Amino acid sequence: MNSVVIIGGGLVGAATALALHKAGIKSAMYDQVNPMEVVMRGDALEFGESGGAVMIQAGGLRVLRTLGLLDECLANGLSSPYVTWAKIDGSSEIIGDMRIWNKKAGETDTRLLTPLHILRSKILIQACHRVGIKTHVGKKLVGVTQDENSVTATFADGTTATSDLLIGADGIHSATRRNVFGENLTAKFTGETGYIGVVNIKEHNITIKETDDVAFYIDRDHKYFVAVFKVSPEIAAVRVSTFEDPEEEDQSYRPFNDLPKHAGRLADLMQSWGVAPNVVKMMRCAFRISAASIYDLPDLESYNKDRVILIGDAAHGMVPNAGIGLLTGLEDVGTLLPILRHYPDGNDWKKALAMYSKVRVARGTAAANQARNMRAKGMAASVFGGGLNHFVFRLVVAGGNNGLFTLYTLFDCEEEVSKLIEEESK
Ligand SMILES: Cc1cc2nc3c(=O)[nH]c(=O)nc-3n(C[C@H](O)[C@H](O)[C@H](O)COP(=O)(O)OP(=O)(O)OC[C@H]3O[C@@H](n4cnc5c(N)ncnc54)[C@H](O)[C@@H]3O)c2cc1C
Repeated sequence: MNSVVIIGGGLVGAATALALHKAGIKSAMYDQVNPMEVVMRGDALEFGESGGAVMIQAGGLRVLRTLGLLDECLANGLSSPYVTWAKIDGSSEIIGDMRIWNKKAGETDTRLLTPLHILRSKILIQACHRVGIKTHVGKKLVGVTQDENSVTATFADGTTATSDLLIGADGIHSATRRNVFGENLTAKFTGETGYIGVVNIKEHNITIKETDDVAFYIDRDHKYFVAVFKVSPEIAAVRVSTFEDPEEEDQSYRPFNDLPKHAGRLADLMQSWGVAPNVVKMMRCAFRISAASIYDLPDLESYNKDRVILIGDAAHGMVPNAGIGLLTGLEDVGTLLPILRHYPDGNDWKKALAMYSKVRVARGTAAANQARNMRAKGMAASVFGGGLNHFVFRLVVAGGNNGLFTLYTLFDCEEEVSKLIEEESK
């Protein structure tokens, strides 16, 4: 493989570029974001569509370890073993110990047992720049054509880029997917909008106890949902989700410039739901608030068509309820790397890409279904009210904490690829 074009410079696009670099393959990233426009709007420059914090479980941390970025990421986030689910006012807490769940799932590296909570950082992008991977900005993909010998991306400004392979890492509304795999393959709006506030908790004297570092506050009867992610001793992200927002559906993640207006409006909304005062205060004191409309992408049958593959949310964008969207994208990257290492000869690329698709479609579909399931169960109330479901969930978490089962499944990228290669050679 001589040259690769990556469409999208989000976290998965950047991780892909780094993986290709490790496999000795040259790539260039193209992102629609135009830094001048962003700076003129007064926003911080950031690729990737969703703001706030993400949780990265063991499988994703393994891929960061492979890319040589684990220590840097661990140093820039907060590793917290607990996840708490509570009623909307913070009462009736159910605390899951992720160390036990990850051990049960088969993780043996003690550094990876505790999930990492990190702001969507620029670590991956910076790592790309360090090794000389170029990001072309202001390049919105509008068309893809391919033939026997090459694939060509066409951008809105009329320029083109031709390569041996094109990787669509352009997120849940992927233009690569629509152009190559079918215009009908679009993500559906769920009716939910998440508003994510980022706050300096130290400056505002907001205390969060260790078991609430990652906490979900839910009123199942009214479908009220608030989440908190502490990412350092100073910084936390708070998310409020609403189905009743008067704002129109917006395809993209968007930061708000009129911060005080939105901070006050969202904090008042949370207060009216009965959310605990320290959590309401987080939204009221946020220094950045962004909105993310929540979408679900129908399951795809293939992530590969000739010289094009899909990766990350472009392939399996999912509802965020299980917190495994990025993890699944990182697994894609962790799978692609050993495949490309095994098939370094460009003549074998067809076999390699088909193998990638085969192994990742199964996993991506399973992950999207897990996320849908968590969403349905997480918000559901029985005829006896939400309290019963909360109680049932308590039993499930207790089972997990006692090592009886795990809701988290570990995907060993290298091992899965080795198995497939062995099967192929039979
Ligand atoms: C509210 C919320 C909370 C979440 N929490 C978690 C969590 O805790 N844990 C977890 O694992 N996952 C979580 N996720 C999911 C996670 O954010 C995504 O899976 C991940 O960011 C996807 O990365 P990506 O690089 O594939 O796509 P994106 O981050 O969407 O990046 C796509 C890139 O492509 C560019 N692009 C788009 N269209 C074009 C085009 N036409 N031409 C050129 N460039 C283009 C965009 O500018 C962007 O830079 C959450 C998602 C949401 C919405």
